[in-house]
Formats: sequence, structure tokens, C-alpha cells
Amino acid sequence: MNNKRIAVVGAGPGGLAAAMMLSSWGYHVDVFEKHGVVGGRASNFTIDDYRFERGPTFLSMPFILEELFASSGRVFSDYVQLKRVDPMYDLIFPNLTFQPSSDPALTRERIAEAFPGEEFGYDRFMKETGKKWERLLPVLQTEHRQLRDYVSKRAIKALPNLSIGRSLYDELSRFFKDERLKLSFTFQSKYLGMSPWKCPGAFSILSYMEHRYGVYYPIGGFQSIANAMKTIIEENGGNVFTHTEVSKVMTKDKKAIGISLSSGEAFHYDQVIVNADFGHAITELFEEEDLNRWTPRKLKKKQLSCSSFMLYLGVKKTFDANHHNIYFANDYKKNVEEISEKLVLSKDPSFYVHHPSVSDSSVDKTGQTSLYVLAPVPNNRSQIDWSKEKKRIQQPPD
Ligand SMILES: Cc1cc2nc3c(=O)[nH]c(=O)nc-3n(C[C@H](O)[C@H](O)[C@H](O)COP(=O)(O)OP(=O)(O)OC[C@H]3O[C@@H](n4cnc5c(N)ncnc54)[C@H](O)[C@@H]3O)c2cc1C
Repeated sequence: MNNKRIAVVGAGPGGLAAAMMLSSWGYHVDVFEKHGVVGGRASNFTIDDYRFERGPTFLSMPFILEELFASSGRVFSDYVQLKRVDPMYDLIFPNLTFQPSSDPALTRERIAEAFPGEEFGYDRFMKETGKKWERLLPVLQTEHRQLRDYVSKRAIKALPNLSIGRSLYDELSRFFKDERLKLSFTFQSKYLGMSPWKCPGAFSILSYMEHRYGVYYPIGGFQSIANAMKTIIEENGGNVFTHTEVSKVMTKDKKAIGISLSSGEAFHYDQVIVNADFGHAITELFEEEDLNRWTPRKLKKKQLSCSSFMLYLGVKKTFDANHHNIYFANDYKKNVEEISEKLVLSKDPSFYVHHPSVSDSSVDKTGQTSLYVLAPVPNNRSQIDWSKEKKRIQQPPD
């Protein structure tokens, strides 16, 4: 048993994962979460009988979770059951629906059928991006704290794979001619809140990762992963305190020495891990003179990614639709420019509909459906008056 005491601020997936591993390695860990549930954005909530995901709905690369649980001496599948989602998603264009499968061979067949000749571009995409992935993954899994980490042998080897100077859209244009196929492999830049025309080409690994490993959904919702991590932390003797907001990280000589809570109590720890939202943490939890590289002033100068408008709909009806449904605007590029450059609401938006009862029968009672609709929208620097706009968007069409 290691007698070091560690405080973790925030019980989102990041904070819980850190706490789970550290408590399994013998440290005494206390997690502090301001909300009443664990999971952060990756949690569920219910309204009446309807269950919704708060944020994440796509799980990819399940081996990362398996590795995480294994490093804590546990088997992931003992705690959480994953369902492979197939088709991965319905990509709904004005005059065509494309359904990439979690099985690349089937996706190839569907491309050959809907876009004859483009299947060879898919083969090249999988081969070339596969090589890029093999080079980049070890670099992505390495901590980059100082300059010399960026010039490591591994990082230098990965350099030619970064598609430097090329946008994600340009990168995919090397493989596909049809605009809809290019969008099918670049819309993933929206996961980062970015435009395919601005996002660096290196991020073609996002669509590659989905095509190689498939897309999954945890039975019981994303909450089940957070609950599993909380169980393990408690099995290891750690604590997870909900409804407990940290108001400051206490410091001495620029080193964290403990935390104080909104309730006024204060506790000393040997180490403090802050996994709250970065902007909130450096603005609210620290005194500016304790910060080195990042300060609230520097943060204000940074560009922000886009936001999302969410509708959580409990409907007394069932739908003949797949799990993940992405509706593309007639003019997707214009829609993306309105979101990220003009900062105005689009008349012709793109949006995503989550329909989880296809994969998880525990979501809905007979005859009813929980749907979540997400539309990427400009961030709050746009000055959009959401109190007015949200009422308009919530109105059902005539
Ligand atoms: C709409 C949406 C859709 C998404 N879809 C996907 C997806 O499909 N797939 C995917 O992989 N990812 C997705 N993501 C991203 C994913 O949700 C995040 O990457 C993930 O939740 C980050 O985890 P985290 O632990 O770092 O932070 P968070 O989930 O934000 O958790 C931070 C926690 O810290 C707590 N906290 C903050 N300040 C304090 C304080 N002062 N005291 C105590 N507690 C505090 C918060 O209450 C919260 O619980 C999506 C995100 C959003 C918003």
C-alpha cells in the first residue's frame, strides 16, 4: 500500500479513470464531483420514463477501455457489456443514404454499389491511413511535456504522416471523387468542433479508427462505464464524493497541497489531479500567480470550437430508424462556414439523431422512444440570443 493521498477534482471519465488506476496501484484516492452523478458529460439522465445520454453516444477503440481496466487488475467485460453498432451510422444526404458498416468488407461492397469505382479509393484510404495510424498512435499515447518529447525518435518518424499543410477535406480528396464520400470520411472533424476545410489532414485517423475498429454502445448507456469505474475505486478503498464542489486548489510554492470546498472545508493531499474543464479550472480553481504556461488572459485569446444545440425528445411512438443518423445540409460547406466563420444560425442545418433503443432494449418502454438531436451551432462568441432562438427551434414543424 502506498501511503500517498491523492485528490481528484471531477468525476468525468478522465477523473474516474485516473482515480481507478491510482487506487488500484495502492494510493488512497478521494474523488470530488460537484454534480449528483458520476460520469461528467458521459452520463445519463432521465425525464419521466425517458432515458437520455448527456453527451457521448459513439464509443470507438474499446481496447483502450480494456487496457485501462486491465491496468487496474480488472476485466472490462465483467463490468460493462458493449454492443457493436451496425451499420455504424446512416449518413443521410439529400438524395442518398450511405450506411458504412463496422465490417470494412461490407463497407467496400456498399461503396462499390452506390459509388462505382470509388471502392479502390477506399482500399487506398484504409491502407495508407492504416500506416499513418500505426505511426501516430504511439506518439498520441506518449506524454508531451517538454520540447524534447516532440523531437523524440518516434515523433520524428511520425512526421511524414501528419499531412502537414493539407486540410482534412484535401486529404480525403486524394482518395475519393464523390463529394458525399469525402464528407462521409471528414464529418468526424465535428467531434473536435472543427470544419473539415480547416481541420489538419492528420485527423483522417478519426474516420479510419471507426472503419477499422467499428462503433460500439454500452448497454445501459455511457453511465454504466462511469458506474463501473466508481465501483472499482470504492472496491479499492477510495471515495467518490458527489454534490461536492471544489472551489480552490490550495498551493504552496507553486505546488498543489490540497483543496478547499464550496462548503468552506479544506483538506490536505500529497497530490491533486484536476480533471475539471480546463478553462473553468485555470480561471476559477487557481490564483493567476500560481499558473505557469496557461493563464486566463492567454485563454481568452484562443479560438473556440463550435457548440452544439441539443434537443432531448421523449416520444410516444416508435421509429423505423437505425442507431446513429446524420442528416447533411443540402449545402454542407455553407452550413459549416455559417457555424465556424460567419457565426450565424443556418437556415439549412446539419444534425444528428441518436436512437439508442435499436441497440439497447433497456432504454425505452414499449411504444415510446427517447431521441436525442444534436445540431452543431456557432459558439457563444456569436452573441446569438439563445433564450429567443431555442423557443423557435423547439417548435415542431407545421
Ligand atoms: C454533446 C457532446 C457529445 C459528445 N459525444 C462524444 C462521443 O460520441 N464519443 C466520445 O468519445 N466523446 C464524446 N464527447 C466528448 C466527451 O464527452 C468528453 O471527451 C469527456 O466527457 C471528457 O471527460 P472528462 O472527464 O475530461 O470531462 P467531463 O466529462 O467534462 O467531466 C468533468 C467533471 O468535472 C466536474 N467538475 C467540474 N468542475 C468541478 C469542481 N470545481 N468541483 C467538482 N467537480 C467539478 C464536472 O461536474 C464533471 O462531472 C461528447 C461531448 C459532448 C459535449
